[in-house]
Amino acid sequence: MIPPIASKFVAGESPAEALEHTRDLNDRNVKSILNLLGEHYHERAPADEDAEAYLRLVDDIETSEADACVSVKPSQVGLDVGTEVFHENVERIVDYAADRDVFVWIDMEDHDTTDATLDIFEKLSRKHEGGVGVCVQANLKRTDDDLERLADLPGKVRLVKGAYDPPAEVALKEKSAVNAAYERQLEYMFEHFDGGIAVGSHDPRMIDRAEEFHEEYGTDFEIQMLMGVREDAQYDLAAEYEVWQYVPYGDKWLSYFYRRAMERKENLLFAVRAVLGR
Ligand code: FAD
Repeated sequence: MIPPIASKFVAGESPAEALEHTRDLNDRNVKSILNLLGEHYHERAPADEDAEAYLRLVDDIETSEADACVSVKPSQVGLDVGTEVFHENVERIVDYAADRDVFVWIDMEDHDTTDATLDIFEKLSRKHEGGVGVCVQANLKRTDDDLERLADLPGKVRLVKGAYDPPAEVALKEKSAVNAAYERQLEYMFEHFDGGIAVGSHDPRMIDRAEEFHEEYGTDFEIQMLMGVREDAQYDLAAEYEVWQYVPYGDKWLSYFYRRAMERKENLLFAVRAVLGR
């Protein structure tokens, strides 16, 4: 069982707990993006095991009729073992999910994995005429070009600011520059995409900009935020827009929880209060 200290950010250790959390979200008109925690496997066996776990999760989503999709990390399904292993496992998951009408997101990790991730997204989005989405990071200098490539493809694209720390040769290092890139890229998507835009941000400014661009260009979009972060805003926004919550679960919750707790003072305070029972 997940201790109370982590349960704000992680739905539980089992798919059943993640689906129970999904039911609560669905009751509030928020949909769920389920992510089995796990990353950077250097051997094929655990990568294949997690790929299998995603197939079972897809079955659970289908039978429970939950309003949910899944999100997979490339290094969780074999990218650190080899690009072929990664591509094989993602294709297996997307093929299986497409047959059951379950959407699959591919998360984006370190800057040197972008090509391998976009390549398999392109292949699978064409193969299934959608049914799959990919994340791109505004802090990478290449992202304007990547969005031009993605504009012509079916499927969805999630724009985030970027959670990794890439070197200055390939990335914007100033927060203000990342924010400016995010706004510019968001506008590009609203202008050039036929929908399939996911605003992956908690930043009220970026949500406001998305609403403005939606008014201006008429393109549909969805908002995605993490479990445990600005949840009241998620419920409020869901009255007007499509809102998805990214819901991690699984027994590898400790490092994920640690990242959430350390990235923001409020999150750390929450964790300390939970330990003290206040
Ligand atoms: P920030 O720039 O961190 O903050 C801007 C403002 O947002 C703050 O001033 C505050 O007003 C508000 N805010 C932010 N956090 C909080 C909080 N905890 N509590 C209250 N207010 C807050 N990154 C990747 O690299 N690859 C991925 O695949 C990926 N997938 C993601 C999927 C989802 C659904 C989301 C939401 C994020 C994902 N990220 C991913 C992480 C992303 O790159 C950012 O690191 C993260 O979202 C922080 O940036 P931000 O835009 O939310 O806001």
